[in-house]
Amino acid sequence: EQIMKIRRQNCNPVTMKITYYKKPLFIHQGYMQWLWDVDGRRYLDLFAGVATVSVGHCHPKLTAAAVKQLKRLWHTTNIYVHPTLHEYCEKLASHLPDPLKVIYLTNSGSEANDLAMLMARLHTGNFDIISFRGSYHGGTQQTMGLTSNSPYKYPISTSSGCTHIMCPDVFRGVWGGSHCRDSPVQTIRECSCAQGHCMANEKYIGQLKEAFSTSLPSRIAAFFGEPIQGMGGAVQYPKNFFKDTYKLVRERGGICIADEVQTGFGRTGTHFWGFQGYDVIPDVVTMAKGIGNGFPIGAVVTTPEIAASFAKAYHFNTFGGSPIACAVASSVLDIIKEDGLQQNSLNVGTYLLKELAKLRDKYEIIGDVRGKGLQIGVEMVKDKASREPLSPEAMSEIFEDIKDMGVLIGKGGVYGQTFRIQPPMCITNEDVDFFLAVFNKAIHNYME
Ligand code: PMP
Repeated sequence: EQIMKIRRQNCNPVTMKITYYKKPLFIHQGYMQWLWDVDGRRYLDLFAGVATVSVGHCHPKLTAAAVKQLKRLWHTTNIYVHPTLHEYCEKLASHLPDPLKVIYLTNSGSEANDLAMLMARLHTGNFDIISFRGSYHGGTQQTMGLTSNSPYKYPISTSSGCTHIMCPDVFRGVWGGSHCRDSPVQTIRECSCAQGHCMANEKYIGQLKEAFSTSLPSRIAAFFGEPIQGMGGAVQYPKNFFKDTYKLVRERGGICIADEVQTGFGRTGTHFWGFQGYDVIPDVVTMAKGIGNGFPIGAVVTTPEIAASFAKAYHFNTFGGSPIACAVASSVLDIIKEDGLQQNSLNVGTYLLKELAKLRDKYEIIGDVRGKGLQIGVEMVKDKASREPLSPEAMSEIFEDIKDMGVLIGKGGVYGQTFRIQPPMCITNEDVDFFLAVFNKAIHNYME
């Protein structure tokens, strides 16, 4: 009660609004994929503080690396040379394909995207930036405009020069009921390709080209795209869609920016970066969240050419690339490798997707199961025929029930209709079995 009183009186009132559960959860401790509340109840954490705790809560090796650095040096700013920063930049660069080799360290994903927007405008001399409907790119004034799936409701314009282009809704059809209500809704589930997404690809691309020629500015500074939408609800694009968007943007003088804040660091399982699943090489990659397992750090990685344009301007960041952040992030890279976490994402994620698909076939209210590795979305509907999103009240009832049975998951989607599973990448098949039993029971309880 006392803590809630302080929260009401002294904390940012917006955080009150986004408190996840009806009765707030007081989290006290964490270890790997587990969290404990103040009463000692244990929860399986399948949301990882919004897809952030990549290697596990308080991973012993990471804690040791952080403590070692805490005893040696906390802060200098980058006006001095400290080896931790340079060692880390070299290590991170080795995880990216050529020519993505120049690194700017920030403190968050929003800051990274904000910086990338500026970089694109300076490099191309163009102003307009495009992103997909349903996307989330951050909460600074600039990135709020870039964000489409926006929780930011301000009576003033927060950013200019950003346009949200259609994102195909592969569940509801072409441009999808949820994204563009007045366009034709087609069925895409009949698709016979392995991905289940490509049948309408030609149509998507055709409409994308049309949008480019009719409504978008003739010169573009950049396109931002999450390889799999996070807050949008694990939205994946049809085959070639990302690649064709890159091509259209580059034809207009723009650069292509992959927002890997949620998809990076092995989470998708098949690749270290989400963009690698689409056979493209972006001009800029932005990252945060999993990079530091919860320690504040973000990064922008770009090419020497774009970095040269940007060098004409000035950029300074007091905390970006702090010794502690770099030591932690460096250890995160080591742990991903040593603990085989990318492979584990693929193995456990594939198992979870397969088992969830069985539940989708069993229950009328599970409309779609999608994602890759350990970035998974379960889209809930009123019924399979209408594909109408399940109501927020019903979502909430199931969500609370899952928590009461000891599992924490996330929510997303344009209507909050998608459950999100983006756990620490160290979870096991046994954890998945536990979650599936809980999820099954929660849906059963709701349907009764
Ligand atoms: N990009 C994506 C894809 C995100 O999911 C988020 C955060 N949810 C951001 C950028 C912004 O990151 P941050 O909250 O660290 O500023």
